[in-house]
Amino acid sequence: MSEQDDKDATRLVQAGRRPEWTQGIVNPPVWRASTILYDNIAEMRARGSADTHHKLYYGRRGTPTQWSLADALTELEPGAEATLLYPSGVAAITTALLAVLSPGDEVLLPDSSYEPTRAFGNGMLKRMGITATYYDPLIGGGIAGLCGERTKAIFLESPGSLTFEVQDVPAIVAVAKARGITTLLDNTWAGPLFFPAIAQGVDYTILSCSKYVVGHSDVMMGSVTAGPGQYERLRAATYQLGMCASPDDAYLAARGLRTMEVRLRQSGASGLKIAQWLRTRPEVARVLHPALPDCPGHDLFLRDFRGACGLFSFVLHGGDDAARTALIDGLRHFGIGFSWGGYESLAIPADPQRIRTAGRWQAEGPLVRLYVGLEDPDDLIADLEAGLARFAAARG
Ligand SMILES: *Cc1c(COP(=O)(O)O)cnc(C)c1O
Repeated sequence: MSEQDDKDATRLVQAGRRPEWTQGIVNPPVWRASTILYDNIAEMRARGSADTHHKLYYGRRGTPTQWSLADALTELEPGAEATLLYPSGVAAITTALLAVLSPGDEVLLPDSSYEPTRAFGNGMLKRMGITATYYDPLIGGGIAGLCGERTKAIFLESPGSLTFEVQDVPAIVAVAKARGITTLLDNTWAGPLFFPAIAQGVDYTILSCSKYVVGHSDVMMGSVTAGPGQYERLRAATYQLGMCASPDDAYLAARGLRTMEVRLRQSGASGLKIAQWLRTRPEVARVLHPALPDCPGHDLFLRDFRGACGLFSFVLHGGDDAARTALIDGLRHFGIGFSWGGYESLAIPADPQRIRTAGRWQAEGPLVRLYVGLEDPDDLIADLEAGLARFAAARG
């Protein structure tokens, strides 16, 4: 049996823990550093010229606190080369894109991209002479028709933000590989436990660790894990941009990671129970949860994913923004706020039609995105039942 054969919960407990760094302390302590002192100039020069990976050199390059977390994330992705940490998920996305794109290039982005990813494509990338072209997230192998001479990267996010379209990652990766195009996946929803992306052939897999890795809604952090042969250009871009994550934040993220399997499993199970209940409700037109048949790409979810997390959306039957607001504003257990992956449930209104360009988003009514945390799902169902009654009364 190798480490790769261990079950997820076991791997999460062991990943990245190195006794030579911690002298037996269970959690790697917070090593804070900017300056690191050398014994003499010869040693300073030697460390500066050699590969500085896992050598104390300067604070920006990290300490065992950050290395331990980064190594743990690498160990969770079979076949991966290495991981780097970023001050947010968005910083991880933008740095990875800058690592692989140059002026004159084109990048293909799914129309269901996380909105700040889109803002970067339409903003800074455009300013640098890089074209961002949006594609239907369900395009699959048909993406070959969009790949031209200038296409250097395909970005994926599966399932998509707000609307949860599941992408045919293997088909898109096959098209990219045949053409020497780099693939980058925002894998925040599934993470390495439910979708080991490097093993699926993706070149860079990106997480907003602010979600389930941290798990307690109190730290911003991102990561990029590089596939075989992909690390060096990511490292160069990361160092040139001065990207780093603080040791205090890395400590908290590593602490969260240890319990991620059990939190993810509970949040996912409660989320599915609530999604299935919503499907039976007359006020609800559709539930966009990858594990349910209404969700576009559900068959791909069954083929490729090992589980579902607790984040999904539902479409209301008729009604306007005011009726949706009546539903959400009165909820007792769901907070109104961004992000997700913590212990507490959240609900937000979302309007995908505002940002889509590759296709139109059409729905029977307004959309609500739910994140299901660790409360008892029956309490959450009762809360939503009262909310749907407020919605129906306001809709008339
Ligand atoms: C939250 C999120 C991000 C951004 O991460 P931050 O840590 O908030 O910067 C990126 N992608 C997806 C899918 C997200 O949900």
